[in-house]
Amino acid sequence: MNDEFTLYDLKVEVIGSDKPMVCSHEVGDYFLVKGENLVFPQNSSFSMYSLAALLPLLPAKQRELHENDWMLSDSVIACPDPNCGARFKITRIGTRTLRHSECTVESIRSKNDDLINQTEEHENE
Ligand SMILES: [Zn+2]
Repeated sequence: MNDEFTLYDLKVEVIGSDKPMVCSHEVGDYFLVKGENLVFPQNSSFSMYSLAALLPLLPAKQRELHENDWMLSDSVIACPDPNCGARFKITRIGTRTLRHSECTVESIRSKNDDLINQTEEHENE
């Protein structure tokens, strides 16, 4: 059975704004997202506070989204320090084909299984 699926590879890059940056960011600093991995170029650093703010968004940006989903249109994220002018631009830079069987030991479930399970959970509440 073909268990392939596709994710986008991402580039997350520091861009400026009209406010000065107060953290250690440098315009042009970046990291890549390839599958489950974050790839940092050599001799580069990245603020752990900014990384913490960005991490929840990355799996969603890797995936196909509904054309009306705000997660698709919004790609510039502010630094979590309210006094810092840094922004981080998330760009899709390509696609990567992965196999379900190489990412998990769980079996592939149909969409209907999730609906049935949700219904059962509500009935048991
Ligand atoms: Zn900052």
